[in-house]
This record gives sequence, structure tokens and C-alpha cells, in this order.
Amino acid sequence: MKEIAEDVHLLSGWPPNAINVYLVGDVLIDAATRQAERRIFKQLAGRALSAHALTHVHPDHQGCSHAVCERFGVPLWCGEGDLTAMETPGQVTGAHAPAWMKRAQERFWVGPPHPVARSLREGDDVAGFTVLQTPGHTLGHLAFWRERDRVLILGDVLNNMNLMTGIPGLHEPPQMFAVDPAQNRASARRLAALRPALACFGHGAPLRDPDRLAEFVARLPA
Ligand SMILES: [Zn+2]
Repeated sequence: MKEIAEDVHLLSGWPPNAINVYLVGDVLIDAATRQAERRIFKQLAGRALSAHALTHVHPDHQGCSHAVCERFGVPLWCGEGDLTAMETPGQVTGAHAPAWMKRAQERFWVGPPHPVARSLREGDDVAGFTVLQTPGHTLGHLAFWRERDRVLILGDVLNNMNLMTGIPGLHEPPQMFAVDPAQNRASARRLAALRPALACFGHGAPLRDPDRLAEFVARLPA
């Protein structure tokens, strides 16, 4: 794994940056798909965690959450709006995804339900980051913001790669996975207005270019 900002590590994966997992201090943020158990455990070997937090409860973010919480004996935290999805079997897949895709995700990606110890709210502190409620992609989607050095972990409010081709570049997440694309766009505008020096996405490489983020968001339809 690689330190991309003070106390913020990006775990390695293959293909690089396809599905990102971050270690912030001793809190693991997101846990990829169920297939990622070996890569996560290998990179966390010898480390202690204090908690595991999620930007949102989708199968490419919560796949190893149960395994991580069990292995490290840590509590699971997520946004209030995603709590039911995390704790209820069959609730994790994207809002409007076609049935075949939901079945495929259930089969290969979705992690088992796990009790949420704490629902995070706007203004809560997680390892020195402030919780921002950024709904739209999911009801309880969260971003994590550290104003002191302007580092933002923004989950899937925006992607920094094309999810189908892997080609780098800013995109809105596919609408079929979003509960409310218009609300997600409002969340994207809010985050771009923070002008993060470093933006860390759920998918795609970190971006150190607040102007590019601002320009992309400004071009989105009203
Ligand atoms: Zn995702």
C-alpha cells in the first residue's frame, strides 16, 4: 500500500485503482468485494485497527466488511441511511441495476450482513476526518474531509475512471446504481466546492487537481 497523504494509505489492488480501499490512521475505509479478502488481510498484516467505516453500502465497498470486523475485532460504522442495507440479507445491490446484474453481484461480490455499531452523521470525526453526508448514490452515502490539508475521500459521488473500460477520467457514477442521481449531483457540487487538494475516489486514481474537479462539476446539467 502507498501513503498518499499524512496517515492516509491507499491499498494496492489489481487492476490498480479499480476498487479502492483506504487506511486512514487505524480506521479502514471501505472493503472492496468479497473477492478482496486476501489482498486486504495481506496488506493489513501486523497492523491494529480501531474501526471499519464505509462510504456506502454497495457490494464493491462492503464485500469484506464482515470479514474485516471479525478478524480485527472492530466495530462497523456507516451512514444512517445505509444501515438497513448493511444489516439485511439481499439489500446491498444497486438501486436500479438489472436483475441479472444483482444476481451476479450477490454471487461474487456481496459480503454477508454485519451489525452496524454506529451510524455516522454530518460533523462526526473519523480518524481526524469530518463526516459529510453526501446522499444520492445511496441514501446514507458519506464523504470524509480533512480541512487542514484539504484531503477528501468521496466514495462514489464521482468516479475517476470509466467503470466499464477502466480508462481514467471523471464521470458521474452509472445511474442504475444510484437511488437519486439528481441528489448525487448536488452532493458532487458540494464536494467540488470544497476544492480538495487531494480527492480519493472509490474507483479511479487519486486526483490532485481541484480545478479539474470544479470544471467537471460545472459542466454537469443543472
Ligand atoms: Zn463503487
